[in-house]
Amino acid sequence: MSDKIVVIGEVREGELRNVSFEAVAAAKKISSDAEVVGVVVGDGSLDDLAKEMIEYGVDRVTTVSHSNLKTYTSEGYGQAVMAVVNDESPTGIVMGHTSIGKDLTPKLASKLETGLISDAVGIESDGGQPVFIRPIYSGKAFEKKINTSDITFVTIRPNNIPPLDKDESRTGEVNAKDVDVADIRTIVKEVIRKAAKGVDLSEANVIVAGGRGVKSADGFKPLYELAEVLGGAVGASRGACDAEYCDYALQIGQTGKVVTPDLYIAVGISGAIQHLAGMSNSKVIVAINKDAESNIFNVADYGIVGDLFEVIPLLIEEIKKI
Ligand code: FAD
Repeated sequence: MSDKIVVIGEVREGELRNVSFEAVAAAKKISSDAEVVGVVVGDGSLDDLAKEMIEYGVDRVTTVSHSNLKTYTSEGYGQAVMAVVNDESPTGIVMGHTSIGKDLTPKLASKLETGLISDAVGIESDGGQPVFIRPIYSGKAFEKKINTSDITFVTIRPNNIPPLDKDESRTGEVNAKDVDVADIRTIVKEVIRKAAKGVDLSEANVIVAGGRGVKSADGFKPLYELAEVLGGAVGASRGACDAEYCDYALQIGQTGKVVTPDLYIAVGISGAIQHLAGMSNSKVIVAINKDAESNIFNVADYGIVGDLFEVIPLLIEEIKKI
């Protein structure tokens, strides 16, 4: 029997999140000759999103559309995805390790009575058997896992497995499936976002994160400016969130978001273990801190010892010249 892998696309505000395409690449790494079936759940016409999944490597897509599926609920999305999985009987399922993925996949795995390998950051092959690499102990070590269940069910951490190149000439079947979600008990009527718009923190390639050293909400302004010139997003330590300099939606760390951007600039952050848990796997870390003994320098690739209010404007000025 050849492999069939279902990739669950994640839609936010009418657009597929990049991790959906990374999940397609992950499916191909699990089995290069598998048929990859996309699932897109939402409201209204989902055909454009289905087409985009195909352009990123999916062979065909099933969409489930209903007004009660406009916004994620574990009950509604659970029923929709489960109906598609039951139709397909896949050998694998892949989704992003996002807030939604973390909520949805354990429930699906339990219903399917299968295991779940969560938060994979890499996939290797051992004689054709996929081996999943995942961080443990808050990113201080990595373990390698193989699947022993009937279904290889995996969530992947955003920004770790590059998507395949988009190929607009790819075509594939798109089927709409009716799933009766009229009577679900929870419907989200409205989402009021606290976080600023712009680049999504968990998918950003560049993050400028501020800590208590930034000293005030106003002190964050130069960080936003630096993030803008770098095309990145702003994050924060819990220290900064607790001090009400910024919203908790920006918090990075053990009890915040886990991020792995190409470039992480830690500004006025001491480098507490709980903060490192959320960012220490970033590809390049730059720390700006006036205390040369600060722990953040132990994980930084580049360190600038100095006052952030002097260093950041100079950085912005130099970057603008490029
Ligand atoms: P501080 O430790 O106060 O550091 C401020 C830094 O700014 C200092 O290093 C200082 O030298 C520097 N500084 C000051 N002024 C300037 C200046 N003008 N220019 C340059 N540098 C300057 N924390 C998280 O971040 N994320 C989490 O998810 C998280 N989860 C937690 C969970 C638990 C259960 C617990 C107990 C704690 C958690 N924490 C978390 C809190 C964590 O322990 C630290 O208290 C917090 O990370 C400290 O934030 P900070 O580095 O911004 O502040």
